[in-house]
Amino acid sequence: MACQYSDEESDYYCQPCDRHFVSDKALHDHLSQSSRHFYCVDCKRGFSSENSYRQHRASKLHQQPFVFCPRCRAGFVSASAFTKHVEVGRCYNLTNKQILHCVRELEEKLRCRNMFTIPRLGWRDDYEPGSQSKTYASQASFNGRYYECVICGGEFEQLRSLNQHLNSNVHEPYEYSCKYCGKQFRELSALVAHVEWKACGGMGAERLRNFVRKFGSLSLTNG
Ligand SMILES: [Zn+2]
Ligand SMILES: [Zn+2]
Ligand SMILES: [Zn+2]
Ligand SMILES: [Zn+2]
Ligand SMILES: [Zn+2]
Repeated sequence: MACQYSDEESDYYCQPCDRHFVSDKALHDHLSQSSRHFYCVDCKRGFSSENSYRQHRASKLHQQPFVFCPRCRAGFVSASAFTKHVEVGRCYNLTNKQILHCVRELEEKLRCRNMFTIPRLGWRDDYEPGSQSKTYASQASFNGRYYECVICGGEFEQLRSLNQHLNSNVHEPYEYSCKYCGKQFRELSALVAHVEWKACGGMGAERLRNFVRKFGSLSLTNG
């Protein structure tokens, strides 16, 4: 959300400070120098919070992609957006269990066990790649008004939405957690976003990017 840096009465006014300036340049200098403002000097744009300012600086407007999808060649500037693309995009057609397995394997490979996942004994033995197919409901799940989920009874107006629901993580236990604050997540992308934007704990951006880059390529070969 942009701040209200209006030039009411045709003068250059900073509303948060209640100060008037003689020129556009003077206002711009004020906004760039004062630590009270979240102001992008390059775009001459104000932001209401530090978080939205940081997201703006980390967006495509100011950053080069650090990873490209090997299938569609789309570039990504944020680790969470790329992770989401692997999870739900059409380029990778993976179940949640396959994704989880890739993450656990990568953690072993990079010697950072449970950096993202919740510890589970025997995860490697419990995994059966052959049985990891997606679940699809049929017209039979229509109860006269809605399409109904056999697991939780959730109701959906469209069969498509029910199928999305069935293939999401909602019925599964939490498998990911933040090492720093303990918060739990069902999707890797949600945890990555938590670490990336809230800057929880001390994982550097480069480390996070490196992990999701490798996660992207491992997921393709391990599908
Ligand atoms: Zn000001
Ligand atoms: Zn900017
Ligand atoms: Zn893609
Ligand atoms: Zn359900
Ligand atoms: Zn956290």
